[in-house]
Amino acid sequence: MIEGLNIMKRHQRPRGRGNPGGIIEIEAPLDVSNVMLICPACGRASRTGKRFLDELDHKGRQRKTRYCKACQASID
Ligand SMILES: [Zn+2]
Repeated sequence: MIEGLNIMKRHQRPRGRGNPGGIIEIEAPLDVSNVMLICPACGRASRTGKRFLDELDHKGRQRKTRYCKACQASID
C-alpha cells in the first residue's frame, strides 16, 4: 500500500456528548471493503455494527445507527 494515496475523509458533525465531530482521515488500502472506521469516541480503528433505534425517521422507517463495537458509541 502506498502512503498518502486513497485517503478517505469522513466529515462528521457534532452530535452531542462524546461525539464532537471533525474530520477523520483514513488511509485506505486498495481493498476498500477492508477499511475500518476510526472511532471518534475511543480513537481506535474499530469494527462497527448497526443497531436500530427506538425512533422513526422522517419517512416513518425505523432509524438505524452505526456504533463502535469496541466502546459502543454511536458513530452516525
Ligand atoms: Zn469506540
